Amino acid sequence: MTQKNLAILAFGAHPDDVELSAGGTLAKHIAQNHLCGIVDLTRGELGTRGNAENRHAEAAESARILGVSMRENLDLGDGFFDESRESLLAVIRVIRQHKPQVVLANAISDRHPDHARAASLVSRACFLSGLNKIEILHEGVLLPAHRPQSIYHYIQDYNTTAHLIVDISAHFDIKMKAVMAFNTQFYDPTSTEPETPISTPLFLEFLRGRAIEFGRIIGCQFGEGFTCERAPGTHSFIELL
Ligand SMILES: [Zn+2]
Repeated sequence: MTQKNLAILAFGAHPDDVELSAGGTLAKHIAQNHLCGIVDLTRGELGTRGNAENRHAEAAESARILGVSMRENLDLGDGFFDESRESLLAVIRVIRQHKPQVVLANAISDRHPDHARAASLVSRACFLSGLNKIEILHEGVLLPAHRPQSIYHYIQDYNTTAHLIVDISAHFDIKMKAVMAFNTQFYDPTSTEPETPISTPLFLEFLRGRAIEFGRIIGCQFGEGFTCERAPGTHSFIELL
């Protein structure tokens, strides 16, 4: 099967991480006809609300809403995945399969310890993926080395200073629809499951407030903030907001 390379591949430690912090950015690039994908590192099976099965269905529905070209779950183990050789090879395999130009990954420091570990795992895998002496066979085919051009870490719970902000004003509504597809996780007045820090109406207000705050910095309505591993380059100052 021939496969088109992705412009952006977004990794998340848990299903919903990408939607919460970079869903508007993906929706925006998809609207510009760039192919985007999501890889969830775990099934979020340790989450207080929901379970692996309904979170899988929610992730599929959210992928449909955003219009991503692929979504895969590596099932590395919620709460316990590590930067082992096996984990790195699993991440390298998807990078080589989809050859993204840009990789988005979790925040490098955050409230949930999985986020920082995921950030480190994905960043290291992006580098190793470019080494052609690491050989990975997938369905009988040797996957050629591929190193993404750049990695950006989306900002999650901790209030981190953004190095780069994407204007998502025209895509905030679709981001929130994608977030709300995870209906076991977020505010649902009919739910009988225990309340969590993300299941209250206040959390949805926080998401909106955070997007307004990032938007305000660059003079637009809503934004999503990222940190960079290296200084980003541009062909034109004029294109920058
Ligand atoms: Zn998470």
